[in-house]
Amino acid sequence: MAESLRLSPAQLEAIIGHARACRPEEACGVLAGDRDGRVLRVFLMENAEHSEVFYQMDSQEQFQVFDEMERESLDLVSIFHSHPHSPAFPSEHDRGLAFYPDAVYLIVSLMDDEPDCRAFRIEEGSIREIDILTED
Ligand SMILES: [Zn+2]
Repeated sequence: MAESLRLSPAQLEAIIGHARACRPEEACGVLAGDRDGRVLRVFLMENAEHSEVFYQMDSQEQFQVFDEMERESLDLVSIFHSHPHSPAFPSEHDRGLAFYPDAVYLIVSLMDDEPDCRAFRIEEGSIREIDILTED
């Protein structure tokens, strides 16, 4: 199991750009890649709840994304979302909805001028921060 999240600067920029575009609502999406945790595809998705304090992937869109990942033999590496007004740390709600123990939960906080990105594993309610490695 990958102990870091590895993605390119351009992929991270795309995620932050999506978070900014959706502000003040939370943004969300999926990062797909290989078994080493290297991200190969970024899926920018709609927050079906259009909420400023939590997110829910649109079920139809999620189905399409997971279907595409299966066709391209990609693994679910990470589920990301943004916190427009709060720190990059999983909320109570996030912990309750962390159904994928093998996935990295990436959170982008926009509460300060500089976006803050942090990655976590959430297993049975316990949270562990892991490294984000940006490399081309
Ligand atoms: Zn959250």
